[in-house]
Amino acid sequence: MNSELDKQITYLKGVGPKRAEMYKKMGIFTVYDLLCHYPRDYIDLTNTVPVSDSMINETVTVKGKIVRKLAPARIRKGMTVYKAVFTDGTADLTVVIYNSEYLFSQLTLDGEFYLVGRITGNLIRREMSSPLVFKGDNRFKVQPVYRLTEGLSQNVLRNNMKNALDSFGKFIYEPLPAHIRSEAGLCSMEYAMTNIHFPKDIHCFEQAKKRLVFDELLILQLSMAMLRNKGRSMTGYILKQKNIDEFYKSLPFELTNCQINAVKDCTQDMQRQFPMNRLIQGDVGSGKTAVAAAVAYFAFKNGCQSALMAPTEVLANQHYETLKGFLEPLGVKVGLLTGSLSAKEKALVKNGIENGEYHVVVGTHALVQQNTGFKNLALVITDEQHRFGVRQRAFLAQKGSNPHKLVMSATPIPRTLAMMIYGDLDISVLDQLPKGRQPIETYAVTGKLRQRAFAFVRKQLDEGRQGYVVCPVIDESEMSLQDVRSYAKKLAENGFDKYRIGLLHGRLPNEEKDRVMRVFKEHKIDLLVSTTVVEVGVDVPNATIILVENADRFGLSQLHQLRGRVGRGKYKSYCVLITDNVTETTKKRLKILSSTSDGFKISEEDLKLRGPGDFFGDRQHGLPKLKIADVSQDLDVLRVVRETAQEIVKDDPLLEKGENKGLKELVNRLFENANADDL
Ligand code: ADP
Ligand code: MG
Repeated sequence: MNSELDKQITYLKGVGPKRAEMYKKMGIFTVYDLLCHYPRDYIDLTNTVPVSDSMINETVTVKGKIVRKLAPARIRKGMTVYKAVFTDGTADLTVVIYNSEYLFSQLTLDGEFYLVGRITGNLIRREMSSPLVFKGDNRFKVQPVYRLTEGLSQNVLRNNMKNALDSFGKFIYEPLPAHIRSEAGLCSMEYAMTNIHFPKDIHCFEQAKKRLVFDELLILQLSMAMLRNKGRSMTGYILKQKNIDEFYKSLPFELTNCQINAVKDCTQDMQRQFPMNRLIQGDVGSGKTAVAAAVAYFAFKNGCQSALMAPTEVLANQHYETLKGFLEPLGVKVGLLTGSLSAKEKALVKNGIENGEYHVVVGTHALVQQNTGFKNLALVITDEQHRFGVRQRAFLAQKGSNPHKLVMSATPIPRTLAMMIYGDLDISVLDQLPKGRQPIETYAVTGKLRQRAFAFVRKQLDEGRQGYVVCPVIDESEMSLQDVRSYAKKLAENGFDKYRIGLLHGRLPNEEKDRVMRVFKEHKIDLLVSTTVVEVGVDVPNATIILVENADRFGLSQLHQLRGRVGRGKYKSYCVLITDNVTETTKKRLKILSSTSDGFKISEEDLKLRGPGDFFGDRQHGLPKLKIADVSQDLDVLRVVRETAQEIVKDDPLLEKGENKGLKELVNRLFENANADDL
């Protein structure tokens, strides 16, 4: 990358060490980082209203003059109020400023200004507190609004940005080959960067945005294509066809057709000279683990090791138990490697991995981080894909002798988006549930019916079943302990005192989480009160009821996953969603859940109803955070971009040509620190 743009932000006029610290908090270190800090919104100064027409509580832009400045009033220690009278000829407005002598001094008498802010007071005496102030002759009629951090104001950021563009704009380079730019009708990068921050008008803004969205999506698609090529260009373990009938025979159930097909997809992939790079997308309960076990067994029959990585210890333990159950009777040695093992135990397991004593190793991503040396690792399985991102996949792809990779995801997403998000993977879909599964009866009720819902839960427990209560949490990181405890107490006071209640939340130490899950599985706990940590993949067949508080706070797909914690055994199961939010949208959304159990359909509806922003807001998809593109909104662009990316890579697989140099730089940037991010 251009070294000028990579200069520390302190090179900018007006940015000293103190401001640099603030910028650092937003992940902005270099001039380039700052330029890529795109506005979250804009103020259109051409869109002014007469003061006389402005309504109380409305946020408006007005243009006029300061006609009077009042003496500052010190109302108490550390609090000075400044007032000025502003008029645009239609009515007066009192501008109120707290403590900022600087801002007040900018409002010069007789000066013309734009003020942006919320109207307060009443219709005879309108006021505007702490408005945004722009000079009347401002050459930028569309003003950017940025995401800020404490201590940084819009004005400061705007000025820094202007300086950055003025002194460094000339170094902004053009990553796109000319022919692509002209085919897609895109403006230059320098124009785009300038106009995304300070567009002259809406048209300029749209041109700029179109260009930046295109580039962002293109880089992402190119990265995936490169990832794919990288995997493709290296030889992995070429495995041989083996008969794994004894595995099928030893299972306590028959695999579904789609499970069998998925296994076939995988074993075929693994016999090719390029490493497998496959995603298994399957609804909750569709039996992904059994597929993983079959594939690992296939590797074992080829004399090779497999690793299965899970996002949490609870899950790692569960998979360990499950795989042991499936595989050990067939002579496969399964090992467990998690962060909570003692140093001695870890060393022992690692030793066993190195000398090949373990054929299958299950672990958390500690497995990756600690760079465990395998004897002959042919297969890496990653569970619950949405916790791992493209970068982690890139990191894994770099590992050792390039093993086959299988990713299991329980987040069904619409096909078009899957192509986008998992552009580097082949996909097998498990869209059939095992035979004999009864649909989970789902009810959405308001808090008024809570007592009845509780009674229903007790009835299940009395029949010897177990249940989950997902309790409301305001902030998973801060509040979970208190929330879960106080909720459990409330339960005890509401007729649950004779049941064994367990608590599970994100702040528990890992050993404790594991212990709780284990005793719950052993049915030494009747009811598990939990935050959403229970969401991912936990399997307790005797659990038949899940009650979710504040259900409206969750995405439909997430609720669907939560619901998947029950109905995993032979008993009829129930899901009760409690919400006091009775808006039409909420009702509609929750109704979808009661009417279908098809995760793909649910995710599509979710996308439609919640809108793309929310749907992707939770980052369950594992995409790197996009700065400007919106993968569901910009679907048409996406299609064009995909084609463009494919053409580029077909012509120049490793982006080595001179004209693609700029693109390659940006792709590398995306993968920088692949192992540090989110791991
Ligand atoms: P998920 O896809 O959600 O990870 P699991 O692999 O945990 O699903 O499987 C859910 C449950 O269904 C497990 O108890 C598993 O043993 C069981 N199971 C998997 N495949 C089948 C099948 N073909 N028939 C019956 N039960 C199955
Ligand atoms: Mg699972």
